Amino acid sequence: MTDNEKLAQLLFGHIDKTPEYYEELYPARDLPEGARVTRFAPSPTGFVHLGSLFASLSEMLIAKSTGGLFYLRIEDTDKKREVEDGVTGIVKGLRDFGITFDEGVTGKDSETGDYGPYTQSKRKDIYQCFAKKLVEQGLAYPCFCTEDEIASLRLKQEEMGLDTKGYYGQFAKCRDLSFEEQEERIKNGEEYTLRFRSPGKPDGKVVFEDLIKGKIEMPENVQDIVLLKRDGIPTYHFAHVVDDHLMRSTHIVRGDEWISSVPTHIQLFRACGFKVPKYAHISPIMKEDETTGGKRKLSKRKDPEAAVEFFIEQGYPPESVIEYLLTIANSNFEDWRKANPAADRFSFPFNPKKMSASGALFDMNKMIDISKNVISVMSAEEVYDRTLAWAESYDKAIFELLSRDRDYGVGIFSIDRGGNKPRKDIAKWSDVKSYTEYFFDETYSEDFAEMPENVSVEDRIAILGEYRKVYDPGDEKQEWFEKIKSLCEPLGFTPNVKEYKKTPELFKGHVGDVSSVIRVAVTSRKNTPDLCSIMALLGKEKTLARIDSCIAKLGGK
Ligand code: GLU
Repeated sequence: MTDNEKLAQLLFGHIDKTPEYYEELYPARDLPEGARVTRFAPSPTGFVHLGSLFASLSEMLIAKSTGGLFYLRIEDTDKKREVEDGVTGIVKGLRDFGITFDEGVTGKDSETGDYGPYTQSKRKDIYQCFAKKLVEQGLAYPCFCTEDEIASLRLKQEEMGLDTKGYYGQFAKCRDLSFEEQEERIKNGEEYTLRFRSPGKPDGKVVFEDLIKGKIEMPENVQDIVLLKRDGIPTYHFAHVVDDHLMRSTHIVRGDEWISSVPTHIQLFRACGFKVPKYAHISPIMKEDETTGGKRKLSKRKDPEAAVEFFIEQGYPPESVIEYLLTIANSNFEDWRKANPAADRFSFPFNPKKMSASGALFDMNKMIDISKNVISVMSAEEVYDRTLAWAESYDKAIFELLSRDRDYGVGIFSIDRGGNKPRKDIAKWSDVKSYTEYFFDETYSEDFAEMPENVSVEDRIAILGEYRKVYDPGDEKQEWFEKIKSLCEPLGFTPNVKEYKKTPELFKGHVGDVSSVIRVAVTSRKNTPDLCSIMALLGKEKTLARIDSCIAKLGGK
């Protein structure tokens, strides 16, 4: 037995499995050539950041677009970041947006798939098995330095003015301890971490191809990083290398805060004898900073929209958020959507190479436009049902009003819906409150401030008085409009807008002004969907009552 083998036995005598055992247990996946295996690997913080939604969406489609596989792994080695029921929060949070997994964790203490366990805290023996192998090969060693010693080492390195600080080279005090000393200290119960013996050279370079960022050259890692902490739990670096290998990830798609660790990770993959996977590092979602005018990362602390919950609370349909994220992920998504208006958004041929290397900018106005498009093509029934489902949790008053009469509610959303040019005026379910205000007496408040200014008060009264006489609730759109036109000439207006534009001095106004007076009288707004349909839905009694009330307010009789 070599000293390294003796050390491995001393440290990991309780490990009876070999790496070969796990290699066999988790064989290469039987997938078609070119199929990508990706994963989303969050810590169980319960919180789904918009950036995590963006990352998981990209990871899912990077796999899906090649007929591959996408799985969920929970990285809970840092207990400080964990929150109660954080896993359920993440799984549900993502599912609400249509992000689903082929394999992996499905909830608190449940999972599916043959490559598990998919929660790192349940994989301690697996990591230790591979750590044992590294020790046997002389590629890892126990380090007895205390936290204080490490801190004073840093100070010393600072004083020395060194560029590279940390535990490496001649500073790695425990690197070359004799087996006898190691044995003695372990037997004395001294605590230790397990460190990697980095093969990196100070002037060495590592070059790799990132699917998003392109070719990257970085200095080699020289640090003897910690593989296992004092409690035997792995660091992220070591855990992800073992996991991504055994779970057979082909592509590591993750936030670009990890890019500086790639040289370390590549060394670890090689030291363990694993194939180095492909990398794709996603840039964070950026936002225009109002104070500086520059770009900054979307921040959990400063920006409410950083949490996906924000979109749910506001009542944005999840598919609007996803459609928007796809437009910022791949700039050709919008063209694809135009060419395939009804296609499943997840069938989009997603290309990681088209993702922004510097960070896509989040633009709320664009998000709103996209959402208006998404809602504009829904049926009235769907808008009604989904508004109700949202309002039940977030706006009790609207819920109460709308649920009273389904036909009436669906009727409201039917106006100007369907056809080639549906109206695009609802971006989120919370907009429905103002959209539907004048359909209910409880929320309607008379306000005629929006009457067209070029129509005198006398004329307003005259228009409403005359209209009252010809109004028939049974009129279809065409007849309804003919009647409004018929009011024009006798009152000094013209039914012909073109004619008005040519010779405005001959008229008081045109048919648009006349219908505006009626619109404002009935709804208190100058912009509404089709007025004939609104009046039909309100019914004769309410329509006339509003017209009469307006005449009275204007001082007429
Ligand atoms: N658990 C890591 C995080 O929370 C994930 C990094 C990765 O995807 O490999 O950021």
